[in-house]
Amino acid sequence: MKTKAAVLYEMGSARPYSTSRPFVIGELTLPDPASGEVLVEIAAAGLCHSDLSVVDGSRPRAMPMVLGHEASGIVREVGPNVNKLRPGDHVVFSWIPVCGRCSYCAAGRGSMCEPGVQANIDGTLLNGARRFTDSNSRSCSHHLGVSGFSNFTIAVQESLVKIDEDFPLDRAALFGCAVVTGVGAVVNTANVKAGNSVAIFGMGGVGLSAVMGARAIGAYPIIAVDLVDQKLALAKEVGASHTINATSEDPVDAIKQLTSGGAEYVFESVGSEKALMQAYAATRRGGTTVTIGLPAPDKMFSISALSIVAEERTIKGSYMGSAVPSRDIPRFIQMYQAGILPVDKLHTHTLKLEDINEGFDRLADAQAVRQVISYT
Ligand SMILES: [Zn+2]
Ligand SMILES: [Zn+2]
Repeated sequence: MKTKAAVLYEMGSARPYSTSRPFVIGELTLPDPASGEVLVEIAAAGLCHSDLSVVDGSRPRAMPMVLGHEASGIVREVGPNVNKLRPGDHVVFSWIPVCGRCSYCAAGRGSMCEPGVQANIDGTLLNGARRFTDSNSRSCSHHLGVSGFSNFTIAVQESLVKIDEDFPLDRAALFGCAVVTGVGAVVNTANVKAGNSVAIFGMGGVGLSAVMGARAIGAYPIIAVDLVDQKLALAKEVGASHTINATSEDPVDAIKQLTSGGAEYVFESVGSEKALMQAYAATRRGGTTVTIGLPAPDKMFSISALSIVAEERTIKGSYMGSAVPSRDIPRFIQMYQAGILPVDKLHTHTLKLEDINEGFDRLADAQAVRQVISYT
């Protein structure tokens, strides 16, 4: 079948993208779903900073590629040996396929799935396949098993989580990356408890979701750090008790003052080693620093080696919120439905696929939180 898609042929295009147009809108061909595969009609797909990291070349991937890893849709066709899904099912994509058989999956750590992460690096589905072909017969890579910037996509069933049919699909998409990553970092990776002090660097979709998660479980204070006042205002709306604009005051000093010496849990969702060092410095002795952002692969992080022992510090990485997607996506949706996670506040723009280049300019200029491409 044919599908309309936005294909990235080259990384590192000049800004503005509205002029260089790194995404080319075109028609791709998809075969019938093979064994274990599912054809999904995408309903909504969010523009995430990790997509931008591929566009600007800081996180290189196999080109050409159909990007987009935060998406929801409706199952239209299933291949042989698909036992978990049927046509008509509504789904959210998990951007790490969870094989269910490797040692990590067996230990309940789906976000570390070994063959899943390898397929993502290779730009293939979990089964090693590439299913998109462009009009010049070029095969296009998949992005994290999702490829939401296409009206239709093929995914393996291990990349899909079924959700209730009455849940709005444009809202559902955000649970696949921003919400599961941010809320998961707080409730899974860090296991923050009520009354713990929390600080969060970076108020993008993930950082704001971490604020919501911290608020949901009763952390206090919840200190949000960013460089943009508008984002800090949004942080207050979703549950931050205090905000710090790091352009006008030193965030480390300010956090230490608000928490008598440092927060028990400090999250870094900026993706810069400088912010990570600040997050570490703003963590209390005996506390935990959690890093969620993705710095460029050549960046190093330098701290006092002694401080880890003498101050009993913990540094934790959080990848996709240490999530078990089939457990966490439905439960975070339930929390949203109960009014505990104000996810609506993340959704700042709705776009057509054709407006994707302009959308990535807006994201790069920090003028948007979540822009969602709607296919309906
Ligand atoms: Zn993402
Ligand atoms: Zn696995």
